[in-house]
This record gives sequence, C-alpha cells and structure tokens, in this order.
Amino acid sequence: MVTTRTDEIAAGLSRTRERISAAAAAAGRHPEDVHLVVVTKFFPASDVRILADLGVTEVGENRHQEAAAKAAECADLGLRWHYIGGLQSNKAAAVAGYADVVESVDRSSLLPRLSRGAEERGQDVDVLLQVSLDPPGRAGRAGADPGDVPALAAEVVATERLRLRGLMAVAPLGEDPDPAFARLARIREEFLVEHPEATVLSAGMSGDLEQAILHGATHVRVGSAVLGQRPTVK
Ligand SMILES: *Cc1c(COP(=O)(O)O)cnc(C)c1O
Repeated sequence: MVTTRTDEIAAGLSRTRERISAAAAAAGRHPEDVHLVVVTKFFPASDVRILADLGVTEVGENRHQEAAAKAAECADLGLRWHYIGGLQSNKAAAVAGYADVVESVDRSSLLPRLSRGAEERGQDVDVLLQVSLDPPGRAGRAGADPGDVPALAAEVVATERLRLRGLMAVAPLGEDPDPAFARLARIREEFLVEHPEATVLSAGMSGDLEQAILHGATHVRVGSAVLGQRPTVK
C-alpha cells in the first residue's frame, strides 16, 4: 500500500489531537480549550495546504524569510500565522506584515517596529510575551526575564496596533518540563491579575505538550509529532 503525504500528516494530526484530548481530560479541562498550532518550519507550502485541508487553522513559523514566502504562497487558505522565532529588530516590521500573532516578543525595542508594520498592513497584531524559564545568564537564552514582564506588558498595552493576548514559553533544554511549566503557571497567575483579558498561554511542543496542558497551556506548538522529523537542509 502506498502511503501518501496526506495519509502521513493525517495520522500525525490524529495522534496529536488524541494526545491533546487525553491531556486535557487528565487536567480536568475541555479539549477545545487547547488550540493546536502546527509548526511548519522547514516543511514546504504543500504541507501547509494539506494541513488546511485536514482542518488545521493555525500554523507557526520561526524564520522570517521562510515564513514570509510561505504565508504569501498560502494566502488563500485563511490561516492564522504565528511567528514563534527569535525576532531581529530590523525584521520586526516585516513580520507584522503577515503574522497574525507574534509570540516571541521579549523586549520593548520591538514594539514601535511591530506597530509600524501593523499600521502599514492595516491590521492589528496579537502579541504574546515570551518569558524565559532558563536560569539567568544561560547562553542562547530567549525570552524576557519574568521580572521584566509587567513593564513590557504595560508598554504593549500602550502601543497602537498591538493587542496583548498572553504569554509564551519554551521549556529549558535538558530540564524536566514539569517544574518549568509550574513556574510558568505562577508567572501567568500574577500577569493575569493586571491583564485579565490576556488569557493565552502558548507552551508545549511535541515532547512536552502533556505537561504544558497540565499547567494551563491554551495553545500548544507542535511540529515533528504532526509532520515528522524536520528535514535538515531546506
Ligand atoms: C520548532 C518549534 C516548536 C515545535 O517543535 P517540535 O518539537 O517539532 O514540536 C515549538 N516551539 C518553538 C518556539 C519552535 O521553534
């Protein structure tokens, strides 16, 4: 029997949806309260089309050039594009030109640039603040220090064209994700006191979505569990 790419993706998708449902049930939550963002980085636009056919509505990308090209190629699909990668300041305005949600906002210098890009596009951009769960000083650390979140959140609220929607985090490499997501849940609790409308919590990937859902994730970002191992060269 020949397995088509559509069959492959459909199988990955259904396994992932089952994991999400089971994790939500175990946490006493409704599965429909956990959104699946399929991370399509390194995979071709043809896979994005298959995903859309299979009912996926939200996709994530982490590299600007690739994301911009794919979003343009798939503009007819009506998908919500999440930008989840490191943001260079000089690319921020361009990212706001196609991303509906920018999940990786970690410093205030990005805000005027994102705002300008959104203004040029004529559409507000949803913003998540990426919080670092790494110990301070770790190399390659991405995300704002938890202590800087309140000030950064206030700046987003004060910026035209940006809508503060919530928080995003990645579990630290080589650490049990459970205590890391427990820390994230406490950070979020404090954040929600000031910003009760900003209820999104983007956390959890292929390897740790169960732990993230247990600690309140509303969005999981899943790549390889749906699409298979990422190609090493594009
Ligand atoms: C690549 C990526 C993911 C998806 O990772 P998988 O392990 O393939 O599910 C999630 N979040 C971010 C920020 C990523 O860069």
